[in-house]
Amino acid sequence: MWDELYFRALERVKGALPRIKGVLLAYNTNIDAIKYLNPQDLEDRIEKAGKEKVFRCSEELPEKIIEVPHLLGGILWSIKRGKAAELFVESRGVREYMKHWGWDELRMGGQVGIMANLLGGVYGIPVIAHVPQISKLQAELFKDGPIYVPKVENGVLKFVHPKEFSRDEESLTHYIYEFPRGFEVFGIKAPRENRFIGSADDYNPNLYIRSEFEENFEKIAEGVQLAIISGLQALTKENYTQPFEEIERHLEILNEKGIPVHLEFAFTPDETVRKKLVDILGKFTSVGLNEVELASVMDVMGEKKLAERLIAHDPVDPIAVVDAMIKLAEVTGIQRIHFHTYGYYIALTSYRGEYVKDSLLFAALAAATKAKLGDVRNLDDIGKALDVPVNEKAADIEDRLKKEFNLDNGIAVVNESQLSFVPTKIVAKPKSTVGIGDTISSSAFVSEFALRAAL
Ligand code: ADP
Repeated sequence: MWDELYFRALERVKGALPRIKGVLLAYNTNIDAIKYLNPQDLEDRIEKAGKEKVFRCSEELPEKIIEVPHLLGGILWSIKRGKAAELFVESRGVREYMKHWGWDELRMGGQVGIMANLLGGVYGIPVIAHVPQISKLQAELFKDGPIYVPKVENGVLKFVHPKEFSRDEESLTHYIYEFPRGFEVFGIKAPRENRFIGSADDYNPNLYIRSEFEENFEKIAEGVQLAIISGLQALTKENYTQPFEEIERHLEILNEKGIPVHLEFAFTPDETVRKKLVDILGKFTSVGLNEVELASVMDVMGEKKLAERLIAHDPVDPIAVVDAMIKLAEVTGIQRIHFHTYGYYIALTSYRGEYVKDSLLFAALAAATKAKLGDVRNLDDIGKALDVPVNEKAADIEDRLKKEFNLDNGIAVVNESQLSFVPTKIVAKPKSTVGIGDTISSSAFVSEFALRAAL
């Protein structure tokens, strides 16, 4: 049954996408510079920087990177534990060191950058992107297509492709040091593959908002039908107040114009900021999150038991997911919640229609394409994911939802709201999983509104 539904959903969405005439994407874009670590090179660097000091730094992560041993110690900390970590690189000297160390690959980073390339570069939907700093290197990472940044020239607001922005600003580089499972230095072996990130970026962590957006937001919003907001995850209780004021002002303008806004939630370690996000969630139309993010939201809402249930099982218990989604919808009044996890997606919407399910199916195809090929190059690529098998474990999940909520053909009605469920396609040996969450959420949100516009 699902194979047939997948096929039909793809056809419908492909036909509907051209109906979306503009999507605003704000706020985070950066450059990801990926370096695949070499054991000999790393050992040499550790020796040179002072083995003892580096090892000390690998015991406990420093708060930020001020000198080279902090960087190498951070990398070693990750290798030892097989865990990911990210630290801010404050010192210019260490930034220079990382730049000279180099990279193997440059990739678009930040949710806005990733979504701009997908929506604009692949789906052909015009997007206006907030790019905090447009360096030549950053601009080159944008695909060709209807991707625009605002530019003010002689007091006149224009929209140009980032490559035509032609003012070389700073490069906001996140250096990603990757290691495979079993990677070994000085007898320390990585229990699993992972990465350490040193971010040389003074803009995104503070949610810097460009003057073009501050001064012309009304005009910018006039050109779009939908908006997707992301990049609030790095804020802390020390620096969130000012950016939140500006974001709330943007939300008010978008709400006044009747433009649906999606919040792409990402794990937000600071509890004050996370709480504040829940407080303003009602100003958004839609939110996208995974199990860890949903659990973290339940946690600040005081739903500790529910938070635990969400991360206790693999695959994630769908009844806990629905309970949490209902809670979140009740408390915030948000109309659409899209949950994604390894193996299935669920959407809870205050409105009803088959198109919600179709958009989830399309998103799952986009995700499988990205996993399979590493990048979605064009809409035809997405068709190639049709033959990726549907996750076997999802049948049990579906059965549980059938018993509990009378799910029928992937759809149920719970408390006046619609629950839409889809089992996803899982690529056994993924080429890349970076940014899959952004691919899933933006594909589902935009295609749902495209299908609605076609009704
Ligand atoms: P990220 O922040 O890396 O984007 P998320 O947790 O937001 O991570 O998104 C990861 C999602 O990608 C999972 O919820 C799952 O639905 C999907 N996914 C992960 N691995 C695969 C795979 N091999 N094939 C298809 N989908 C995958």
